[in-house]
Amino acid sequence: MTGADFLVVGGGVAGLSVACQLAPYGRVIVLERENATGYHSSGRSATYYHFGIGNRPVRLLTKASGAFFSNPPPGFTDVPLSTPAPAMMVVRDGQDEVFESNLAEMAAVTGTAHEISASQMHALVPVLKLGGEGITRGLLDPAAARLDGHALMMGYTRGLRAAGGQVVTNAEVLMAERRAGQWQLRTSHGEYAAPLLVNAAGAWADELARLAGVATLGLTPLRRTIISFQPPSGVDVRGWPLVRSLANEFYFLPEAGHLLASPADETASPPCDAQPEEYDIALAAWRIEEVTTMAVRQVLHQWAGLRTFTADRVPVAGFAADAPGFFWLAGQGGYGLQTAPAMATASASLITGCAWPDALALTPADLGPSRLPGV
Ligand SMILES: Cc1cc2nc3c(=O)[nH]c(=O)nc-3n(C[C@H](O)[C@H](O)[C@H](O)COP(=O)(O)OP(=O)(O)OC[C@H]3O[C@@H](n4cnc5c(N)ncnc54)[C@H](O)[C@@H]3O)c2cc1C
Repeated sequence: MTGADFLVVGGGVAGLSVACQLAPYGRVIVLERENATGYHSSGRSATYYHFGIGNRPVRLLTKASGAFFSNPPPGFTDVPLSTPAPAMMVVRDGQDEVFESNLAEMAAVTGTAHEISASQMHALVPVLKLGGEGITRGLLDPAAARLDGHALMMGYTRGLRAAGGQVVTNAEVLMAERRAGQWQLRTSHGEYAAPLLVNAAGAWADELARLAGVATLGLTPLRRTIISFQPPSGVDVRGWPLVRSLANEFYFLPEAGHLLASPADETASPPCDAQPEEYDIALAAWRIEEVTTMAVRQVLHQWAGLRTFTADRVPVAGFAADAPGFFWLAGQGGYGLQTAPAMATASASLITGCAWPDALALTPADLGPSRLPGV
């Protein structure tokens, strides 16, 4: 049995970030089922940082994470974690209500989000169909950025290791029980014990709770699909912003000279190695052709991943009420990268008793599991 002070289950961005934050306070071991970290949701994201997604708490977590991305701690990374890249949120006819509410919420949090005119939208993305059946209104989020998800996870891993922590891959937790003040875990890579267990198992977080005999949170994994395709010949897309429907119909963004696009699908799925379905690939292409003058002639690449939500779509960081030493870090939905620094800091504060990040403008109760219905 290998002993530690903290066992973190899940080697995605959530598990690695909290592990790094906990490392100065004791021995941390991250247990990851796959043979590499970041294999599931964290490695399949669109890696955007923007304010056009989520409700007020999510936007506050996003804002509180911004400084970490633009100015990471010394030695964290050799490459920028974020590159400024504006985001344009758009709606079509009949979607004014969602536009107004998002504009007000975004402007309140960023201070910079603002409506732009049709000619400004055209100047930014000349292929947009504007007016009529196309895009009727748009707003710009100049505080948005593209993240380097790999550098973020590598930075956290490096920080963890430098403080004496460890990541064990190929270590699926198969059994978890609380005995003599310790969580004892049997994994496919040996046995581990610690007084404190962080559940950062992503789409499997409820399954891990069930294994441990802890009440579940009712998490819902939803599949999301991304395709990549070639832009029209002669069109340089490199300076394009992320273009995202506020009514959750589609988004597209430039990626290394190509375009990525999603139909913004949210299909319920059991926790699994998510794969794209033909229907969602076709839907992505169709939605892009509906709102732009582009034709998606060939899908170059496609993938899918799970975005796992709580009932109120706010991530959870907090101790289970029914199990000592069982800490939830779950339900990061479609914003787990852009909120990771703030969520990790808040979690470390709750676990170690170090100062709560007041600048977050959220309380522990706002993030805790007991706010959720039936928990
Ligand atoms: C298509 C797509 C686009 C997205 N775009 C963005 C974006 O632009 N910006 C943004 O901020 N977020 C985005 N997200 C969301 C973001 O990717 C997730 O919120 C985030 O990755 C969740 O991280 P996680 O660590 O909780 O989960 P994961 O990365 O899934 O990590 C959980 C880990 O736990 C491990 N695990 C589970 N059970 C066990 C067990 N029993 N034993 C051991 N290990 C176990 C799994 O193997 C997995 O590696 C996107 C997601 C998708 C799918």
